[in-house]
Amino acid sequence: MQKGNISVQTENIFPIIKKFLYSDQEIFLRELVSNAVDATSKLKTLNRKGEFAGEIGEETIDIMIDKEAKTLTIRDRGIGMTKEEVEKYLNQVALSSAQDFVDKYQDDASIIGHFGLGFYSAFMVADKVEVQTLSWQENAEPVHWICKGDPSYEIGEGNRDFRGTDIILHMSEDCEQYLEDDEIEGLLNKYASFLAVPIRFGTKTE
Ligand code: ADP
Ligand code: MG
Repeated sequence: MQKGNISVQTENIFPIIKKFLYSDQEIFLRELVSNAVDATSKLKTLNRKGEFAGEIGEETIDIMIDKEAKTLTIRDRGIGMTKEEVEKYLNQVALSSAQDFVDKYQDDASIIGHFGLGFYSAFMVADKVEVQTLSWQENAEPVHWICKGDPSYEIGEGNRDFRGTDIILHMSEDCEQYLEDDEIEGLLNKYASFLAVPIRFGTKTE
C-alpha cells in the first residue's frame, strides 16, 4: 500500500467557500464581528496575564457604511495582526489562531473562532476585501492587505495609527443591500446581541 496526502487547489476552493460553505450569505457579519470580539477578548487576556501592560481603553467595535465608496467596515480595537500573522492567518485558508491562543494562555475565556474559515465568508458578499491592521506588540508596523478572492493578494504598509483591525468590504453589485442601515441594523440584532464587547452602529450601541 502507498500512502499520500490529499492536496487542495486554491483556485478552486474560493468558489466553493463562496457558494457552499454557508447556507446563508448574511452570516458574514456574524463571522467578522466574532473575529473582532475575539481580537478584543484576546487583548484583555494578554492584559490579565501581564503581557500587555498598556491601556485597553475603549473596546467598542464600530460598524460603518460608506454609501459612496460602497464599503462596509468592521473596526475593532483588539490585538491587531503583525505582517507575519496576516501572512499566516489570512493567507492560509483554514488556519486559526484560536487553539494556539487558548493553549498558550490556558484561557478558554470566550474565544469564538475555531476552524479558520469564518473570515472568508466576507467573499460571499464582497468582491474585494481590505484589511488595515496594527498589532498590540511593541514596534509593530501597520499592515495593509488586499484580496479580490481570486486568490492572489497584495500586502504592504498600512495606515492604522492605533492598535486593532479594520476589515473593509467592497460590496459586490448584487449585495448592495448590505449598504443599507436597516439591513445592517437587522443583522446586528439577529447575530450580534449579547456579545462580550459593545457594538456601535450609527447612533446605536448593542
Ligand atoms: P477563526 O475565527 O475560526 O480562527 P477566521 O477565518 O475567522 O478563523 O480567522 C482566521 C484568523 O485570522 C483568526 O484566528 C485570527 O488569528 C485572525 N483574525 C481574523 N480577524 C481578526 C481581527 N479582527 N483581529 C485580529 N486577528 C484576526
Ligand atoms: Mg472567526
